Amino acid sequence: MTISPAIPNTDAAFQAFLDELHQQYAPLSEGTVASYIPELTKVDPATFGICVVTRDGRVFEAGDTRHIFTIQSISKVFVYGMALQEHGRDYVLTRVGVEPTGDAFNAIVLDDRSMRPYNPMVNAGAIATTSLIKGDGPTERLNRMLDMFRGYIGHDIFVDMSVFMSERTTGHRNRGMAHLMRNFGMIDERIDESLDLYFQQCSVTVDCRDLAVMAATLGNHGKNPITGAQAVNQRYIRDILSVMHTCGMYDSAGEWVYRVGLPAKSGVSGGLIVVVPNQFGLAVFSPLLNAQGHSIRGLRVCEALSDHYGLHLFDSSMGCTRFVQQLGQSNGEVS
Ligand code: GLU
Repeated sequence: MTISPAIPNTDAAFQAFLDELHQQYAPLSEGTVASYIPELTKVDPATFGICVVTRDGRVFEAGDTRHIFTIQSISKVFVYGMALQEHGRDYVLTRVGVEPTGDAFNAIVLDDRSMRPYNPMVNAGAIATTSLIKGDGPTERLNRMLDMFRGYIGHDIFVDMSVFMSERTTGHRNRGMAHLMRNFGMIDERIDESLDLYFQQCSVTVDCRDLAVMAATLGNHGKNPITGAQAVNQRYIRDILSVMHTCGMYDSAGEWVYRVGLPAKSGVSGGLIVVVPNQFGLAVFSPLLNAQGHSIRGLRVCEALSDHYGLHLFDSSMGCTRFVQQLGQSNGEVS
């Protein structure tokens, strides 16, 4: 099937485009579901959802957008925002850098000059940012973190206990990284408590629509477009989007920027979020992963959408602006 080349000038045209994308990529069966813990293997590989939430709160959905899964590494984006908000940019930079690694998400590697983890999107950096979450003891820290997620999602959320327990039981590599960082003073002495918090943040349950609302919140200066809640101070949005842009796709971050050109983050359970700044948030859920741990249908959908509407940040046709003007005008408004 070929996708008709048209800029959406109505909500219905854009919805039809998402439906076409879903139909086109649903038959793809390449890739494998994550298997490092048994819970993640139980998912139906055919599950596939696409959701877009615009800055003014319109929601477009295709496929299995209400299927629940654990957020996994996508959580790293939001916990990084929380660390920035609690400690400020300068302090957080002393604990975690902003350089892409070119290595896999779970590489045991620190910057050999500063001894910091390279960035907050790889596991080592994420454990370092999680360790910065304030609170008196594990329960208070967990509750504060869940409150932060609720601000982005707009409703109550939960930790999947069986995924959490499995992550905790099998997470030797993450444990090893935490101890290495403790050795260099990058995290404090609450090693096991912070690791539990990291495993819990990975085990927070969401659906594809939730992720699109979270991405749209980042694209809307930190303000949830559905509830109007300010989930994160807007001064940190540029830091968050910068590390998503350069580091969010791990060792394929360069290819991602080249092909899609938008800040993004993927998770091993099959979620992928993309932010089109000042425009909309996109989320795809499909658990079949490539060798780097990214959703294969997710990659295809994002590339097709970016190409079709010229959304790449460096696209000379300025598709981002054109997209919103046309979609906005059709509804009597321009964002
Ligand atoms: N819980 C996973 C880990 O820490 C997250 C990895 C991912 O989603 O990329 O290994």
